[in-house]
Parts: sequence; structure tokens; C-alpha cells
Amino acid sequence: MNKKDTLNNGGKTRIIIIRYGEVFLKGNNKDFFLSLLVKNIKSALKEFDYVFHKLQARYLISDYADDAETEILYRLKKVFGIYSLSTGYAVKTDMDLIRETALSLAPDIGSFRVTVNRVDSTVKQRSTDIAADIGGFVFSNKSGLSVDLFNFDTEINVDIRENGTTLVFIGRILAQGGLPVGSSGNGLLMLSGGIDSPVAGYMMAKRGMRICAVHFHSAPYTSEQAKEKVVDLAKIVSQYAGHIRLYVVPFTEIQLAIHEKCPSEFMITIMRRFMMRISERLARESDCGAIITGESLGQVASQTLQSINCTNTVAQIPVLRPLIGFDKSEIIDVARRIGSFETSILPYEDCCTIFLPKSPATKPKLEVVERAELAIQNAAELIEAAVTGVEIIKI
Ligand code: ATP
Ligand code: MG
Repeated sequence: MNKKDTLNNGGKTRIIIIRYGEVFLKGNNKDFFLSLLVKNIKSALKEFDYVFHKLQARYLISDYADDAETEILYRLKKVFGIYSLSTGYAVKTDMDLIRETALSLAPDIGSFRVTVNRVDSTVKQRSTDIAADIGGFVFSNKSGLSVDLFNFDTEINVDIRENGTTLVFIGRILAQGGLPVGSSGNGLLMLSGGIDSPVAGYMMAKRGMRICAVHFHSAPYTSEQAKEKVVDLAKIVSQYAGHIRLYVVPFTEIQLAIHEKCPSEFMITIMRRFMMRISERLARESDCGAIITGESLGQVASQTLQSINCTNTVAQIPVLRPLIGFDKSEIIDVARRIGSFETSILPYEDCCTIFLPKSPATKPKLEVVERAELAIQNAAELIEAAVTGVEIIKI
């Protein structure tokens, strides 16, 4: 038998139902979005054996190993563009089979209802009548169950599809939503070892961006562990965003030059300006149309409007700051949910904390900063050397 026929083989087939949001499916883009989504699903499941089915407005996965289901669900829950998932059975649209399958899924005690969705127009019975039929059958076979259409503990869903297949399932697992990664171009994430930037990367990937990342490393002032931590954070983001190319930029020489030649109150602002210049170069080289940072307005001295203005003006491409209106506690909530928080709070310092001045300027004036920066006369060479020394890590 052709493996693809497994849904209509006369028995019941264990399945995972994948639903995508319809909101982004406008006009000609539909095929583009959906082919990306399918590609990303297959890439997330590349280690598994399964059969993939396309139905109207949903996909099904079947014929996987019994013990793989939990892990497959776990992977699918991280694929952007998927809105919800269910597990259940597919059977041929045949009332005896549907009744038996509903019964096999029903719990032993509590209240329940059966909800029928009928897409197949060749089935003439009304949905409510079919639901009453199945509900009656389940009820008469389970003494501990009661029917309650409004306050039910369990809803058994029967979805009579277009192709002679019926899906029977209980419950929906919410997934990430968002747009398929790759549908919104590429962004270069400035990834520190902190809490915010991994969340910022997650959020832009959720809007369909493919992510490259850049980390500025200040060995020997920062440890090898600090770099490993950033690699680990990139791995966590890549569970959602797919492959990430991480650029690790040697930043020590530039930091030392700023430390030596510029007023300490502007240390951070000038450092950010150099980071931004190098990021822009790398963004252009890696076909990224935007830079992404984890900045949140007013969170620290370097994230006031004046400070942001000082770093923003050196970049010619858009700088996206998806966390700009988030409170720290809201960022932490997302970090916990996506699994980056525990890694972010490991103690290894990233480069910013090492040269931290006692009182950084909270309202740096652009002209003053630009003048102070002129003290670094070999800026162009320093940037060139940093770019030349970039280490690329594929994640
Ligand atoms: P995070 O938690 O993301 O480190 P933060 O609250 O510590 O943010 P800052 O240290 O001011 O804030 O950094 C602001 C943003 O600048 C970061 O979110 C990140 O995008 C970028 N950034 C800071 N340090 C680095 C670094 N060493 N390498 C790459 N990007 C950095
Ligand atoms: Mg930081």
C-alpha cells in the first residue's frame, strides 16, 4: 500500500493535526507562505519518520513511531506560523468507525459533549444530528459519563473533512503563531549574554525574519565561558528561528582605545556606536536588511532616547527594537517561556560590564559624542581589524 493512503486504510490512524493561521494568507502570497511553512515543519522534523498530508487549511502528520509523538509535538510547538495542534485519529468517514473512535478517546468520568464540524458536502446529515448520534453512542457505553453541552469537562471533536477522512480529537494545544521564518527577510541580531537580546531575536523570527547574530567579545577581559554562553543562547533562539550564523567579533582593541582616549561618561555610547558600525558592515555582507537589538526605552542609561539617537545615527539600515515598549518583567516572562532565561542569568560577564563607568551620561548630546570620538584617530583601521578577525559559528 502506498504510504500516503494510510488515512483511509479502514482502520484508525494516529495523527497530529497542524493548524496555521489564515490571517497572513492574503492573495498571491499564500503559496509562498505555505511552502515556507511546510519546509520549516519538515526541517524541524528531519530526524523523524512520518507521513505528511495536506488538507484544506490544515496539515496532518501520521505514521510516526508511538514514542516519538511527544517530541514531535514539542518541535512543532516552536515552528512559527503554526497556531494550534491536536492529537487524535483519522478514520474513513464511516459512522461505525467514527463512533468507535470517539468512544476510544472518551474519558471514563465527568461531563462531555461531541462537537461536529462538517466540511464534506456529500454527507447530508446535519452536524448537530451527527453529534447527537455519536454522543448517544459514547454515553451508552460509558457509565461514568454525563452529557453537558455547556459545562463540559471534555469536548470530543469530530471533523468530517473533504476527502472522505474524518478526524477525531480532543483539545487544542496553542503553538507560537507568527509568520513562517524566511517570509520577512533577514535580520542581524546583536546578541549579548543578557536577558533581552535573545528575546528580541525570538520576536523578530516570530514575525518571519531569518536571523544572523553578532556578538562582540572582549577576550581576555571576558572569558571563554561568556562566549559559550552566547553560543548557547543562539542555540536556544535557533530552536525557533532555524539555522543561525553567529559572528563573534574581537572587540577588545576598540574598547581599550575608547577607554584610553574618550571621557568615561561616553564610554558606553561610543562603544555602542562602534558596535553599530561593525554590525552594519556585517549586515550588508550577510544580506540582512535590518539590525535587531534588545533595547527597551529607559531601561538603563544607554537606552534613553538621547542615547539611542547617538547609536542610531551611525546606521544607514533600519534598526529594529522589538522590546522598546516592554517592561523588564515582561521581557523576563517571554525569556522564561522560550527557555532562554536560565542561560541568560549565568554569571559570566559580557563586554559591557567590564569597562562600565561609574556615571554614564544618560542624555549624551550627539555633537559632543561625535567630537569626543574623534580622539580615536585610527577608528577605521580598528574597525577593519575587528571585521577581519570575525569568527563565524554555524548554529
Ligand atoms: P541584554 O540583556 O540584551 O544584554 P541589556 O539590558 O544588558 O540587554 P545593554 O547591555 O545596554 O542592555 O545592551 C543593549 C543591546 O545592545 C542588547 O540588547 C544587545 O542587542 C546589544 N549588545 C550589548 N552588548 C552586546 C555585545 N557584547 N554583543 C552584541 N550585542 C550587544
Ligand atoms: Mg547586556
